[in-house]
Amino acid sequence: MAWGMASEACCYVYYPENENDLLEIFELAKVRGMTVGFRGGGQSYGDASLNGEQILVDLSGWNSILDWDSKNGIITVQSGVTIAQLWRRVVASGWWPPVVPGSMNPTVGGCASMNIHGKNHWQVGSFGEHVIEFKALLPNGQTVCCSRYESQDLYFGMLGSFGMLGCFLSITLQLKQISTGAVQVTALSAANLDDLLHIIDSRKDEDYVVGWVDCVVGGSSVGRGIVHTARHTELSDKNIMTDDGSNNKHELPSKILGILPAQYLWFFLRIFNHRVGYKIVNMVRYYSGLLRNRHRFVQSLAQFNFLLDYIPNWKQAFCPGGLIQYQCFIPYRNAHTVFSKIIHYCTDAKLQPYLGVVKRHRNDDFLISCNLDGYSLAIDFSVKDSNRARLSSLLAKLDEIVLDAGGRFYFAKDSTLKPEAARLFLGPKTLARLIDLKILCDPNNLLQSNLSRRILPELHDYQVNN
Ligand SMILES: Cc1cc2nc3c(=O)[nH]c(=O)nc-3n(C[C@H](O)[C@H](O)[C@H](O)COP(=O)(O)OP(=O)(O)OC[C@H]3O[C@@H](n4cnc5c(N)ncnc54)[C@H](O)[C@@H]3O)c2cc1C
Repeated sequence: MAWGMASEACCYVYYPENENDLLEIFELAKVRGMTVGFRGGGQSYGDASLNGEQILVDLSGWNSILDWDSKNGIITVQSGVTIAQLWRRVVASGWWPPVVPGSMNPTVGGCASMNIHGKNHWQVGSFGEHVIEFKALLPNGQTVCCSRYESQDLYFGMLGSFGMLGCFLSITLQLKQISTGAVQVTALSAANLDDLLHIIDSRKDEDYVVGWVDCVVGGSSVGRGIVHTARHTELSDKNIMTDDGSNNKHELPSKILGILPAQYLWFFLRIFNHRVGYKIVNMVRYYSGLLRNRHRFVQSLAQFNFLLDYIPNWKQAFCPGGLIQYQCFIPYRNAHTVFSKIIHYCTDAKLQPYLGVVKRHRNDDFLISCNLDGYSLAIDFSVKDSNRARLSSLLAKLDEIVLDAGGRFYFAKDSTLKPEAARLFLGPKTLARLIDLKILCDPNNLLQSNLSRRILPELHDYQVNN
């Protein structure tokens, strides 16, 4: 099942113990005429880690930390190590992963494969920018070691190539040094979209910035929301959490508001899974944010970054249809126009997202990349039998708006992109380069997924005689 539960597939799942097992799986697939997909934590919203009726290699068991140099903050891990394992291992020594997603459950291999970003993307870039080197097994049987200086083509090609070129075995990361495990957070309310984008842009000297948008409200308040900025605290700051070697104070609370057991709250969220419910939740969130405008507080880095993990299993609130996320990246100058168009289109279609999030981004040099100098808007929709077809046609319309504005898409979150849109986004040169690399690494065209077949069927068209 995809993380968002809106797509599922039956796969032949294998759990290799080591590199040799994986080589045998590649051989088996070749002999049987089957394809191979990879799965790390299974935390991609859409169908990236599914390979229907085919082989799916679950890499979550490759979860050892291989080397940890706490003096220089350099760590080498197997690709199935999760972000949770990573930060828990390093935080007490004064280090933190420089780029983390909104949940701590993804694996390092999954993060490398999608080249994920955090709430600090415009500052520090994507996950791949902190990968010193990686070791990978290619379906052609070769084991390669890649860095910015060695096998550069594969380094910039594999980081972000959604598992299509090879399997990350181990990854060496440069971590970020921190004085404390805490951040000073400021909440700022924004009256409309203009205000929101302005606040985000004017806080570029902070370490982290993220904007929550109310996508349900209309009129002059379209795009209102709350921006959270955060800055690493220094030991000289007052009221900080100092490190005493224990991880307890970094962890997420097991009770919300001090009394409600977090693990059962998803059940309560179900009550609000409809249009009126989204209106109520968004309104309460906005007005409580307004009351606390400019409020400053201290949180652990984990509490700030992994907000979406506060309520375990919250996605169950969207059963049985599940949820999908649509995240588009828009160049700076077009962001305001495009985001307001998107919100208006959703309102007109009576398909309002229950959640909207805006982040600031920058360009990078990776072959497959959604990143650009601008903003992203991520909007989440509840999927029901009654809205599935309408959602798909709404999102196809949004794709056109995004492409017209020179925007990009993010495969880790995608569930609906069509090949024409994916082709236009990547452009013929990038696509040709990806196919060249794929032929080199994967001459038998073994590596596939539901996502790759859906968005880029031409990636699987070639046949190399060997
Ligand atoms: C609540 C939540 C919040 C999120 N927040 C963010 C965010 O803020 N920013 C962001 O960028 N993303 C975010 N994500 C998306 C998530 O970070 C990515 O989808 C990530 O790729 C998931 O990692 P995974 O280990 O679960 O990989 P999976 O979902 O299992 O797989 C993802 C892709 O990686 C490939 N893959 C996995 N392991 C390997 C390997 N060892 N070698 C080669 N390929 C491999 C798979 O083939 C697949 O294509 C979020 C997801 C969730 C559920």
